[in-house]
Amino acid sequence: MGTGVTAVAAWLLECSQEFTARVDELDELDRALGDGDHGTNMCRGFAAAEGLDLDEITTAADALRHVGMALVQSVGGASGPLFGTFLLRVGANWDRTRSTAGLAKAVREGVAGVQARGKAEAGDKTMVDALLAAADSLEASAAAGRDTREALLDAASAAEAGRDATVDMVAKRGRAALKADQSVGVVDPGAVSMALILRTAVRHIG
Ligand code: ADP
Ligand code: MG
Repeated sequence: MGTGVTAVAAWLLECSQEFTARVDELDELDRALGDGDHGTNMCRGFAAAEGLDLDEITTAADALRHVGMALVQSVGGASGPLFGTFLLRVGANWDRTRSTAGLAKAVREGVAGVQARGKAEAGDKTMVDALLAAADSLEASAAAGRDTREALLDAASAAEAGRDATVDMVAKRGRAALKADQSVGVVDPGAVSMALILRTAVRHIG
């Protein structure tokens, strides 16, 4: 197991612990506009990923791809394939030199994958609102010459601002769109999870 893989494994473990601790809170958020299973879905996905044997994996890129596949395969519903696609695409575009510009490109490609699959645009009240904010922030950091750690810290904060901005949005995608008229005033649970995943990444990947 290379150092990059060790970092991904540690990040994965922390994500799994975070989702286990917050399962009820995330299910409750999904109850407002969805079917109340978002926390349970995330727990199941990250528990499956945590069970992966990464011993034979040598690069962070491959580890991220395996985690992405585990999410796609273990979580039913809309979110597993979308979170999985994000990590698969980040892994496929992973920057071995660990530059801020490379990180920005990998995350931008990840967002593009989620949007190609789910068709959500900015402002549709989904995980994409957290992700686009993070991708924009990483690109700005690359242009400003910030190092990866600083860039990831800012990107995590940007994702949290993107998450908070979903409160005022009208839902246009997924189950929540069926309750669009009740959706203003409620945060999007997928955006909460995506912000959590990025905040957790700061401690391990930067
Ligand atoms: P399900 O909707 O199948 O029950 P979850 O409850 O686990 O799945 O996930 C719901 C989250 O998935 C939403 O909060 C939203 O962020 C995200 N989501 C749903 N549809 C889309 C989409 N088309 N594009 C991007 N994200 C989406
Ligand atoms: Mg749901």
